[in-house]
Amino acid sequence: MQPIQILMTAPLLPIVVAQLESAFTLHKLWEQPDPDAFLKAVGARIRGVATSTYHGRIDDAFLARLPALEIIASFGVGYDNVDVAAAAAREVVVTNTPGVLDEEVADLTVALLLSTLRQIPQAERFLRDGKWREGAFPLSPTLRGRRVGIVGLGNIGKAVARRLQGFDVAIAYHGRTRQDVPFDYHPTVTGLADASDVLVVIVPGGAETRHLIDREVLAALGSDGVLINVARGSVVDEAALIEALQSDMILSAGLDVYADEPRVPQALLDLPNLVLLPHIGSGSVQTRNAMGQLLSDNLVQWFRDGKPVTSVPETAHLIAG
Ligand code: NDP
Repeated sequence: MQPIQILMTAPLLPIVVAQLESAFTLHKLWEQPDPDAFLKAVGARIRGVATSTYHGRIDDAFLARLPALEIIASFGVGYDNVDVAAAAAREVVVTNTPGVLDEEVADLTVALLLSTLRQIPQAERFLRDGKWREGAFPLSPTLRGRRVGIVGLGNIGKAVARRLQGFDVAIAYHGRTRQDVPFDYHPTVTGLADASDVLVVIVPGGAETRHLIDREVLAALGSDGVLINVARGSVVDEAALIEALQSDMILSAGLDVYADEPRVPQALLDLPNLVLLPHIGSGSVQTRNAMGQLLSDNLVQWFRDGKPVTSVPETAHLIAG
């Protein structure tokens, strides 16, 4: 039998590379001197793609070059990096890595919220810069008494809510559907912003949620409001956010994700009252390894018994019984 040929689009963790190399013939697209010529020569034999939400987009034009493709295994729970509709139309299964990162991302979200309110990174810089000897660090805003609105009460949103319950703050949420949870539901994101002092955004990216957080939502959040975005940069209208921060329409923001990563607008870098992280929500050694393991398992189990571990809902119908 011919070995199964897998294409990796950009470097993944060493554990993933090692596992895929032991089970399949692995081609590394980024190592090809001429990727276009490589795809012309080998594209028709590729049956699986290993990619990542942190890599470039897998669109229909790319899929057209891989006519034997059966599965795209993507690293990350968000999969807005893959044109899933195009994949489904070509009967290509798409998998992601849900479940293994929820608690890690929730930890980071709460850390970012506290860092933003209590200005922890700014205080540390103050100490390191020797300024403590000249006087005390200025007093910060607080989490105490704040109402927290969660935009997207999914797996990660619920893990954030569980943590925040221990912080003794009021919690409410917005999503397209009301859930059986002990938190107030708001059918509109503007309504939630109006009733909140902190908005934590943790919805999927993509066309449906593009600029869900716009000028109107930020205005509703108000001058004491804090925005925490750990979802995707596309969910927030970044220009509107910059304007809202510059004009004191809102108090501050903590961001892990940006519209055009890894480029962060200078206007954000220039604002002192923000905490800016380089998309590290799931970025611990243990959690990233667990995500890598799940990506490998998805490919191995697909080619072994036709059932990946975690297909995305849009392609679940392609998996037999
Ligand atoms: P889930 O699918 O479990 O939850 C998503 C939630 O978003 C659901 O509650 C859903 O509720 C809501 N939602 C979906 N679409 C909309 C919409 N159009 N308007 C309002 N609400 C919507 O996903 P996870 O919790 O696992 O992950 C969420 C996202 O977090 C990922 O897709 C990814 O983009 C991001 N993420 C970021 C990370 C980072 O490193 N910063 C790490 C991991 C994930 P309903 O269906 O009722 O609308």
